[in-house]
Order: sequence, then C-alpha cells, then structure tokens
Amino acid sequence: MYMHRALLIVLLGILNVSCGPKWIAYPQNVKSYEQCKPFNSDPQLTKVPGFNAYIMTKGGNCHIMDRQRVSIAMIFFLEEWSNIFPYSLDKDLVEKAISELLIEFSWEEKRRNAYSADGRRLNQVQVSGLATSPGTIWVKARPGDLICQTSFIHELAHIGIWAIKKTDGDPDHLGPKYFGWTPRHNVLIQRVNKILCEIGI
Ligand SMILES: [Zn+2]
Repeated sequence: MYMHRALLIVLLGILNVSCGPKWIAYPQNVKSYEQCKPFNSDPQLTKVPGFNAYIMTKGGNCHIMDRQRVSIAMIFFLEEWSNIFPYSLDKDLVEKAISELLIEFSWEEKRRNAYSADGRRLNQVQVSGLATSPGTIWVKARPGDLICQTSFIHELAHIGIWAIKKTDGDPDHLGPKYFGWTPRHNVLIQRVNKILCEIGI
C-alpha cells in the first residue's frame, strides 16, 4: 500500500498540470506496448500504472478513460477498503483481485436482467456497468466523463466481494438472495467517488 501511496502522489502530479506548469505534464518512460494506439481497430490492452491490471480498448477508442485516472481511482478504492474493512486476509484477497483486473470502458447500450440497489429484480434494464467475472468488469463511459460519475467504483466493490466470497460478487446488493453486500459497501463507494470528483477524476 505504501508503494501505491507513492504512486498516487506522482500520478496526481501528472494530472495537476492542467492548471500548472506544462513542462511536467506528460507521463514519462511509458513503453510503447503499454500505450493505447488510436489507429488500431483491433482489441488492445493498456496497462494500468502500478498494477497488473489492464484496460481493454476496442475500435481504437483510446480516449474514453485514461489509465492514469484508473490507477488513482483503484488506489483510493483499496485505501478506503482497508479503512472500512480492516481484516488483513480479506484485504489481501481484494487487493490481488483489483490488481489483476481486466477493465473495459465503452458507451454502448447494454440491457440485462439485473438488481436495483435494494435488491429488486429488474428485467432487461439498461445497465451502467457490469462485474462479469471475478476478474473482469465493463463500465459505461464516454470521453470526458469523470470516473466518479461512472459505475467504476461500484463494480470494484462487486469484485472485492467476489474475491472474498469466491462464488459471486453479490449481484443483488442489499437484497436477500445473495449475501456479501452491506451498507458499508455503499459508504465506501460514496466516499471514494466524493474524493475522485473533488480532484476531477
Ligand atoms: Zn451492482
């Protein structure tokens, strides 16, 4: 976690430049194979700095969400998770799952049978994100969206639960069918998204 805190300071320094000096504006020493290429229409994997997680990009849509902001959001999520759930074994499982995540951002419309926040089953409802397996999420986002306005942190909470529980990520949230999700997960999501919005992420 200390490594992640150090990384966070560096990444915030990179992002802060829109209102600061331009000469520190650009990420340095990024290997070309770790970057997204907008002219490549094949599926591409872009590495999230500081993690072994990857962002999957299709159709050359590299500008939906930059990997620096994803990294910062993941660091804040893990930090807040260990504050709210301070049990070391679970924390390690969650950190490992988040660290190895495959993330896809796109703005396509997806409809699924899903559950509301209080556990009501909804048929073919439009979804803003999905935790599709213990290691993959999809998040609806358009270029220019802040991460705090998307379901990214919400999906990370499903992944955290999935890592501990193994069988599922508690798709019905506070509903009675699956267990795992608690009001504290809602607090976690609110806290992290508040911070991310405040720093423009
Ligand atoms: Zn959910």
